[in-house]
Amino acid sequence: MKHVFTLLIAAFPLLAPAQQRKVLIIGIDGCRGDAILAANAPRLQQLAASGFSTFEGNTHPPVWSGTGWSTMLTGVWEQKHNVTDNTFSDPQYATWPHFFARIHSVQPTMDLRSFVHWAPINEEICTSATQELELPSDTALADSAVAALQATDAPDVLFLDFDDVDHAGHTYGFSPDIPGYLDAIATVDHLIAPILDAVAARPADEEWMVMVVTDHGGNTWGHGDNSFEQQRIFILASGPGIAVENRAATRDTFPIATTMDFGATTYARVDNNALFNFGTAQDFTIECNVRMPLDWDGDPAFLCNKDWDSGYNPGYVLSTTGGGYTWKFNIGDGTHRVDLDGRPINDGQWHHLAVTCDRDGEARIFQDGLLMGTADMSAIGDISTAMPTCFGQDGTTAYPYAMTGNLCDVRIWSKALDINTISAWSGKPLTSAHPDAAFLIGHWPMQDGTGGLLANTVPGSPAAHVHDGTVPTSATWSANSDPLITTDLTLTPVQADVVPTVLAYLCIPNDPLWQLDGHALIPACIPTGMGEQPGDGPPTFFPNPTRDQLHLQLRGRHDVQVIAPDGRLVLHHATGDGPVDVGALTPGTYVLRITDAEGAVSFARFVKEL
Ligand SMILES: [Zn+2]
Repeated sequence: MKHVFTLLIAAFPLLAPAQQRKVLIIGIDGCRGDAILAANAPRLQQLAASGFSTFEGNTHPPVWSGTGWSTMLTGVWEQKHNVTDNTFSDPQYATWPHFFARIHSVQPTMDLRSFVHWAPINEEICTSATQELELPSDTALADSAVAALQATDAPDVLFLDFDDVDHAGHTYGFSPDIPGYLDAIATVDHLIAPILDAVAARPADEEWMVMVVTDHGGNTWGHGDNSFEQQRIFILASGPGIAVENRAATRDTFPIATTMDFGATTYARVDNNALFNFGTAQDFTIECNVRMPLDWDGDPAFLCNKDWDSGYNPGYVLSTTGGGYTWKFNIGDGTHRVDLDGRPINDGQWHHLAVTCDRDGEARIFQDGLLMGTADMSAIGDISTAMPTCFGQDGTTAYPYAMTGNLCDVRIWSKALDINTISAWSGKPLTSAHPDAAFLIGHWPMQDGTGGLLANTVPGSPAAHVHDGTVPTSATWSANSDPLITTDLTLTPVQADVVPTVLAYLCIPNDPLWQLDGHALIPACIPTGMGEQPGDGPPTFFPNPTRDQLHLQLRGRHDVQVIAPDGRLVLHHATGDGPVDVGALTPGTYVLRITDAEGAVSFARFVKEL
């Protein structure tokens, strides 16, 4: 047994507590990742090639600096920090603070510094910093960073914010094809070179992770809209132990076997029923897949239970728009209306469209798995109508503009599904694994393939076939080979991942009480193989791997934390309480973070088996 134990310890080497983990975060406002690759930016490109990189990460709209930096630096989305523009009118940083406050709460001696060109980052967001500096220019910022990194005592975490790339984007446009924008990125690359050199010249017992991040993307129009180019962000992270990896967005491809062709006289209706009338307070979600041609007349509806002659009329509609060939969601109660716009869909491709309505909160719209916009809908009152729920027509069934395209997989839920659920299940065939399966009240896959009856497949419908859709005229069906492609944001790197990634590198457990929204992009406490364990030698424990318990051989009282591969703190244990019970953990490799009575910290890895 003894030799097996030794072998396993060797296979999972101890981390290096004598090493000091440190992090440099280089923030570049409004910087597009594809423009970094197109620019004369050798240092940024080298960082991307030497560690973790993604050029297909995502933020949420609205894409403003106040929103983006808040999400990145607090580790939670705008639904929590509540900063949706640059006015910082009602931020919730007291509940969802800058990550310096999280680190400070568990490591109060760490040196945390924030040097920024865009002053609101420090004035509004940053707290618990050891030092805050607001600099008048990117050049002054770089000089201050180099000076801090050349001093004897370097910071443990240094955040930098460069602002001039965003200015160039507003002047010339944000695009990898625009020379003025690329020149600004080349200038930042030049400014960060001596900063990276200063990091490289630090003493050998310091292990630095360098991250490069941005608050938002942009396009030739600017930012503040909901376009894919504005939402897309890059994230780079390189340093000792961090594997070279380029991670794309997680896209799901779903086949659609057959389609019903909608046209001038072809639509479908589900008879009016209390189940699909949402009154004054009922939350709901509507999803569908749509394929539209390159152009069309007017603003025909995909899904509607109202008279679409006016957006104020009671009821809701998912429709095309007359100008721009995008789509929109409208809801009205006779007096008030709320409207939200999606992105263009006039490309002959399938798109997943979704709308969630939290009646005393926000309406949100989604396209292909991504959030497109939100609006306060609390003023909307009674939306019930006496009309049928129609596919390809409005509730009157006589709207002058008829949908000419395809529609399928209509899903109606009696709940406002959350953003992650919408994204993870966008277009995915429904199973009982859907977290809100109990709230599905209507589901018309529209894969019937023949005839004019569209079966509602919700199990246990109140009366079988009562809520089937019917096609008043003859339906035409066609075989289909075009797939639906959506993005799963829950598996795609996102802006909220930056804080968990920093914590993971610093071996600071991500406390579930903090309710951070992101996930670490690198394994927690990556072993670097550098440094030696001082003092009494490594803590020993057995068995490893283990199914249920870990026995620790420690002298005196120790505090033991178990950190999951994604950096989350999953167990907290004080020795003297017996062995650590790990039986409930998901199988995988975990980190033990052991603090002795004097506060010295050591790390070890173990494997939890099935
Ligand atoms: Zn800007």
